[in-house]
Order: sequence, then structure tokens, then C-alpha cells
Amino acid sequence: MKPTHIEHIGIAVKSLDEAIPFYEKVFGLKCYAVEEVADQKVKTAFFKVGDTKIELLESTDSEGPIGKFIEKKGEGIHHMAFAVEDLDTKLKTAEEQGVRLIDKQPRKGAEGLNIAFLHPKSTFGVLTELCEAPK
Ligand code: ZN
Repeated sequence: MKPTHIEHIGIAVKSLDEAIPFYEKVFGLKCYAVEEVADQKVKTAFFKVGDTKIELLESTDSEGPIGKFIEKKGEGIHHMAFAVEDLDTKLKTAEEQGVRLIDKQPRKGAEGLNIAFLHPKSTFGVLTELCEAPK
């Protein structure tokens, strides 16, 4: 697999309006993008910390994945994303290694990245996203 770096950490929050000013004021980070990902029923806000980003996730629908996550577990770390090259091959290799895939094929995530999720039951409880910058 060999990721090049941690692309981002996804954090589920109830309200971007509350969480963005917190990250800006307390950590001195600048929110450089807010984007809605309609098929994930989520609104995202991004901050850069070195090569890694913080992705805040606010649900736009209580039935969406982030809405359900917050209802069950409350706010907090939702997933970790590794940057990889050649995502298609990496997914196939992971499947051959017995890793349960949520996405068998890459799909479009925020910021135009190609992404795919590995099931947390296969990754010691951490919902793991693989992402690849579009070529
Ligand atoms: Zn993500």
C-alpha cells in the first residue's frame, strides 16, 4: 500500500459555523475552502497543517453517514485519509490481502480527489480513506 503521507483527518462536527472559528482562533489555521459533497450529504471545511489537512464534516441530513455517526458516537474523529498513487491498483491489492472495501471502485470526493474507503472492521476500527490526486 505505502501511502505517501496522511492526506487529511476527517472530523465530524455538529456545526461548521461553530467549528471553523474555533480552528481559526485557537489553532491559528485558515479555512481555505468550504465545499458541499451532495452524495455524501455533508458540508466540508478544509485547513492545512503542513502536508496534511483537517477536514471538518457537517451533516446536511440526519440520515447521511455523518448524521448517523454523530447520533451514535457524538462529534470526533471520523476517518483518516492516506494519499496513495495508483489508487485502482492499491484497492485491488488491498482486496487480495483480505481487506474489506467499502468502495470497490474509486469515486469523486471533496477537492476533486479520487477516493475509496476501507471498512473499519478490517482496519482496527479506523475508517480509512485512500485518496489520489486526479491526473
Ligand atoms: Zn475524507
